[in-house]
Amino acid sequence: MEADELTGLMNRREFLLELGRQVLQSSEQKSGMGLMVVDIDKFSSVNAIHGFEFGDRLLQHMAMQLNQLAREGDLVARIGDNRFALILTRLKNRGHAELAVQKLFRLLDPPFEANAARMKIAATAAMALCPQHASQAEDLLRLAERAIHSARISGHNFLFPPDSRTEEFSEFWDMEIELSGALQRGELEMHYQPKVDCTDLRPVGVEALMRWTHRTRGSVMPDIFIPIAEQSGQIKALTIWALNTALRQASEWKHPFGRISVAVNVPAEMVSQHDLPDLVESAWNLWGSDGVELILEITERSLVSSPEHSFRILSRIRAMGVKVSIDDFGTGYSCLAYFKNIPADELKIDQSFIRGLLDDSASREIAGLIIELAHRFGLSVVGEGVEGAEVLEALRERKCDLAQGFLVAKAMSNDGIQRWLNNPTFEGTGLPLDPARFRIGIPVDVKTT
Ligand code: C2E
Ligand code: CA
Ligand code: CA
Repeated sequence: MEADELTGLMNRREFLLELGRQVLQSSEQKSGMGLMVVDIDKFSSVNAIHGFEFGDRLLQHMAMQLNQLAREGDLVARIGDNRFALILTRLKNRGHAELAVQKLFRLLDPPFEANAARMKIAATAAMALCPQHASQAEDLLRLAERAIHSARISGHNFLFPPDSRTEEFSEFWDMEIELSGALQRGELEMHYQPKVDCTDLRPVGVEALMRWTHRTRGSVMPDIFIPIAEQSGQIKALTIWALNTALRQASEWKHPFGRISVAVNVPAEMVSQHDLPDLVESAWNLWGSDGVELILEITERSLVSSPEHSFRILSRIRAMGVKVSIDDFGTGYSCLAYFKNIPADELKIDQSFIRGLLDDSASREIAGLIIELAHRFGLSVVGEGVEGAEVLEALRERKCDLAQGFLVAKAMSNDGIQRWLNNPTFEGTGLPLDPARFRIGIPVDVKTT
């Protein structure tokens, strides 16, 4: 790899090739990706005032901060004199993109010191998302660089490219229109992924996940359409539908496990809306039953803008006997101390993090610590994205309560989950689970240890 000598990072040419590869990979894996571009502002005056050596140290400092922000699989480059780029792989949605940018600005916040001089770093950033903004490497970079220019002239320190409804974004626009009719056309469906007790693998609940089968495009994954629903204001209607559908279907399931939970994802913007408790209550009054416990999954982003307000809303919901779960925890933007007072019952450790469990000892230690602290705060912990028996074992050792992931089962249709609950085998995974240790597939009414 050709590197920039000063920072050791990839240069622009190398970066564009790599970006092309990453775009391809993210489309194959149907996962989102973000391209962040960051400029150090007024860099030429920094050089003029403090000298070139100071300027060089500042560039190296910037490279270090970006490397620190990067998670496994992410890529950092220097693509101009004072311009850097970061590819954020496996980026879930716009919210996560914003959290990454906030984190970068926090990293750049302390004054920078070198050669006995000191300055406050000013930076401008932009982020283009794939596939929401573009799905070609050159287009992504062009949009991000154009957005950084717009940010500078409009006095912002961060901008996304515009969600323009012009030709350039026709892919985005089509989907938005199509999505608005999807509910009426009956193209949406809820699927359910089991959550099991880590110790005996007993099914304890499901997460409800939305699926969209478009008449010509076929199946569209939620990573693609949920961000579009969020940006176009359709997410509320979809969430109300999801809540009602999941409760209605779950209350009809017949299975030997007594009470099981059904978890519905609630977008950040709804957590701060006053009518959320009423919406939940009316869905519960229509479809709730003794055999079902309702959980709302929210992300930490929901609580950032007005925590006290959101806390009040969540407390009202919990007072109704509905549980609250913090989703995607551990993505690198979380602050555990923050959760001490949070009105929640459950914490879901993000899958990107769970995957690191086997690879590095730091991840293992942090996972253990998160679980321990969560327990101390009275939260139960779910490991998400558990794909291998070794990971499950690692979670069990660390006293994680529940596991969810392809090792147990993928999300299934309403019919599928009913069948599974009545015969919860793990054969589909083809993985060597030891039935003697995990007690697979025995319907137990009373939890054994
Ligand atoms: P999420 O809430 O974190 O949901 C978990 C996602 O991880 C699901 O993807 C699930 O299929 C996937 N998953 C579970 N176990 C494994 C595993 O072992 N390996 C791998 N590779 N993946 C696993 P899905 O269904 O594609 O949903 C993606 C995201 O879309 C969800 O992430 C959630 O943020 C959003 N979403 C899905 N359904 C809804 C919904 O009804 N409402 C809202 N607001 N968002 C939803
Ligand atoms: Ca979730
Ligand atoms: Ca999650």
